[in-house]
Amino acid sequence: MGSHRAGRFARNLGVEPRRKLLALHRQMDGCRLCPGVLGPVVHGEAVTSRVLLVGQAPGPREGTFGRPFAWTAGKTMFRWFERALGAGEEEFRSRVYIAAVARCFPGKAKGGGDRRPDAGEVANCRRYLEREVAILEPELVIPVGTLAIEQVLGEKAPLVEVVGRQRRVRYHGREMEVVCLPHPSGASTWPRTRPGASLLERSLRLISRHPAVARLFRRSKAVSPSGGALRAAPLRPSRAHPLPRGAGEG
Ligand code: SF4
Repeated sequence: MGSHRAGRFARNLGVEPRRKLLALHRQMDGCRLCPGVLGPVVHGEAVTSRVLLVGQAPGPREGTFGRPFAWTAGKTMFRWFERALGAGEEEFRSRVYIAAVARCFPGKAKGGGDRRPDAGEVANCRRYLEREVAILEPELVIPVGTLAIEQVLGEKAPLVEVVGRQRRVRYHGREMEVVCLPHPSGASTWPRTRPGASLLERSLRLISRHPAVARLFRRSKAVSPSGGALRAAPLRPSRAHPLPRGAGEG
């Protein structure tokens, strides 16, 4: 079954999925479905990958940069991946498809901080995630933060019960594995205190060992967030087909 899937994947990862992703990005760029959000639409590059990362929503700065996770939380998250996978931010962005529950900045909350997308906005934006899952057929989904985790798992659960574990889910009609990560926002101490720090480390280890991730990244040195070795193993070349930088961005 593995070789059959791999063969099918190799055929699917040609021009066609990328063309579909680019068409979807053009559609997203013109989306004005949610009156309460602030533009512009932000999406990642049209990377044809079997690994899908799902964030919450862009912050106030991401629109300027035209890419998700472009500010401080992103810096923290890419540092986690660099330690776990031995891959820097640009390499990660070129090999993993980065999506989000909502693609527009929702604005500020009354009490300060960024507003979470409301149920209507999440429902409106779900159509894009559905299409992305249909096009990419992911083997692994990595939801980042509680809203994305709820959407992928289909239930609310405390972070201590979902981070640090791998499970199989049915997401937008497809079976895949899921490994959850906490939100990397500096406002949250969860990933830096007990038991969050060790659960985060466990999730990163699970991600680094997942076959779909292993195919995407050559290992150089992989260390845990606390500095210890996570894993160091040479792996096969990437099967991702990244676009040239800037292509497909809104
Ligand atoms: S959040 Fe999603 S559905 Fe709403 S306007 Fe932005 S792209 Fe469209």
